[in-house]
Amino acid sequence: MSVPHDNPKLLRAQYVALSRQLPLMYLVLLLNMWALAATHLPTAPLWLTCAIPLGMTVICVVRACVWLRSSRYLPADTRILASLRRTNQLVPIIAGAFTSWSLALYPYGDAYSQSQVAFFMGITVIVCIFCMMHLRPAALIATLVVNVAFVIFFASTHNPAFIATAVNILLVSLAMLVILQHHYRDFTRLVNVQARTEQLSNENLQLANQDSLTGLPNRRQFFTTLESAMRQAIAGEKRLAVGILDLDGFKPVNDLYGHGVGDKILIMVGQRLLELVGRTVHVARLGGDEFALVLEGDLSDEDLHTFGKTVCEQLRVEFLLVDVPIQIGATLGMATFPQGATSAMQLFEYADYALYQGKRHNPGSMCLFSSGHREQLHRDAITEQALRRAVLDKEFFVLFQPILDSGSRETVAFEALARWDSPELGLVSPGQFIPIAERIGLIGRLTLPLLRQALGMARLWPEGMRLSFNLSVHDCGSADSVQSIIDVIRVSGFNPAYLDLEITETVVMQDISQVQWAIGQFRRLGCGISLDDFGTGYSSLSQLHALALTKLKIDRSFITDIHLNPASYKIVKSLVTLSLDMELECVVEGVETQEELNALRSLGAMQVQGFFFSRPVAFADTLAWLAQTEARRGQWEAGEMLSRA
Ligand code: C2E
Ligand code: MG
Ligand code: MG
Repeated sequence: MSVPHDNPKLLRAQYVALSRQLPLMYLVLLLNMWALAATHLPTAPLWLTCAIPLGMTVICVVRACVWLRSSRYLPADTRILASLRRTNQLVPIIAGAFTSWSLALYPYGDAYSQSQVAFFMGITVIVCIFCMMHLRPAALIATLVVNVAFVIFFASTHNPAFIATAVNILLVSLAMLVILQHHYRDFTRLVNVQARTEQLSNENLQLANQDSLTGLPNRRQFFTTLESAMRQAIAGEKRLAVGILDLDGFKPVNDLYGHGVGDKILIMVGQRLLELVGRTVHVARLGGDEFALVLEGDLSDEDLHTFGKTVCEQLRVEFLLVDVPIQIGATLGMATFPQGATSAMQLFEYADYALYQGKRHNPGSMCLFSSGHREQLHRDAITEQALRRAVLDKEFFVLFQPILDSGSRETVAFEALARWDSPELGLVSPGQFIPIAERIGLIGRLTLPLLRQALGMARLWPEGMRLSFNLSVHDCGSADSVQSIIDVIRVSGFNPAYLDLEITETVVMQDISQVQWAIGQFRRLGCGISLDDFGTGYSSLSQLHALALTKLKIDRSFITDIHLNPASYKIVKSLVTLSLDMELECVVEGVETQEELNALRSLGAMQVQGFFFSRPVAFADTLAWLAQTEARRGQWEAGEMLSRA
């Protein structure tokens, strides 16, 4: 019977319905009242036919106005509750007043007018039940007050017609009350179902836009935010930036400590990012270990660099989760709008490209998409198209670059280096096409024919001459690709004991356990494993130690002008010492001058490779090269003596 104070939705629905119906009820009440007053005007006293109706008109008009006004806006729940309670309290007073007034007129009229009183009461109560049916207590109270008075009063007249009317009205009212009960129940159910549906759709909306692990907005929400931020940036002629952040070294942590720890790190990364950013930066998780940022606030390139630096530094701070602190890093790629990008998708792609470049060249830092990147992207797109159309067996071939022993100057191996003679683009370097082939998943189809070619030629070298062959990330990434490589080696007829497979640190950083397994397979076959471009990546020594490597190849960036640069000299010295300590062979790449070679030789015995000795050459030239060993030895010795002098 009370107002449902614990169900605000129902409360509001009741209020809305009443604010539409009660003014109508008051209007009917007033018109009927004045009609009754008018017919009694000649016979009844003025206070009954004018004064009281006037007073009741004022009250009804005030109440009707209150409800009319409230239909225009919805007040707070507490005010709605108070208003409904007030209505419940007023109903017996107003119903009582109308009933008493109409019954007071009864003695002044003739039989027709008395019937009008009975009709007025009976029909008006039905209107009241209808209009107040959304507030059950009010409808019940009004029915009770009017009917009890009606039945008692007309029963006491002993007039059979009035008694029959009273019974009639009673029955109709009872039927109305039963209908009211059903209606109210349906109304309540409908409101509750609506509320539940609304709640479910809100929850669904939230789930559809939220990343369930971190609670951050997800990829879908990220694009919605980005698009609206772009509209605002256009309207305000402001600058906008998008950042894509990829964790470095997350996969090994996940593999080593399990997914539970990995999940916690992702949650903590999300928290750190939220702590770092203000209200103008929106953070989202795109999936895996990738997060995204939308940076509003008209930031300059300098601001973005400072921000990126802080983010990368903060994510390098150790995570304290298990017994040992866990350290990972993050690379951030950023692109700005409206410079260049015209759509959200393009802006995202540019940021993604900056991330890719950052990961390749400077992991653990921020890389901002530049005009140079745009040109590169354009070139890449052209290369990609040509690569997709290329006839792999015909257009790709290998050259060989000799690797020598620095002491004996003997050629100990050749490294096979891929070349692409594209009918559309001419000769394309592997630095350009290998990363694209990796990205578009073509590398698997490229490695095997190249390896087959290299092994087939290497078989023709004198016994004991080694071959180095470069593998890419994908080549070690699955059991199938490893097996295909093993099959090619097996059928080639080349002794696997003389084959070195080169992998880079980027390969190692992908999935250490998978790479470990792949290396195990190649080692079981008898192959050596060289770590290429050593010193440029970010793999830890413990990670390297876990791999069954046989050789380290020190990157050529340390060799350039090593004789003039004490820092490079020290780095190479420590890398050479490290390889000795790890009982690995050491190859120094990129030797271009006699001076560089002299500096290297002062560091001890090692293998050397570089343009100083030979550029990569065709297979036929390798045979000529081997045949001329003695002649060259004389030349070099002379050159060396000259440079010392
Ligand atoms: P890498 O394995 O480190 O190969 C050495 C690169 O340095 C070669 O470039 C070589 O020509 C160049 N180089 C050698 N000596 C010198 C020198 O004295 N000075 C200078 N400036 N450069 C020197 P290239 O042939 O352009 O290959 C670039 C990279 O492409 C290779 O680096 C390797 O990572 C990759 N690559 C080459 N062939 C293949 C292949 O068949 N498969 C895969 N997956 N990657 C390959
Ligand atoms: Mg190599
Ligand atoms: Mg290298």
